[in-house]
Amino acid sequence: MSNITKEQKNCHHCEGKGYLEIRDCTGEVQREETCVFCEGNGQIVDEEDIITPENS
Ligand SMILES: [Zn+2]
Repeated sequence: MSNITKEQKNCHHCEGKGYLEIRDCTGEVQREETCVFCEGNGQIVDEEDIITPENS
């Protein structure tokens, strides 16, 4: 076991689908847009770039 891979998780923005469903006010899906958070991969590399505003 010598896999050197960063931990990947399903993108929670698109739930691992790689795209976002753009809905109108009635809830109907208008179109599908590539998720910008995972760049369409559906997975994101778990890195320490989570910005949490602590000082407010
Ligand atoms: Zn995504």
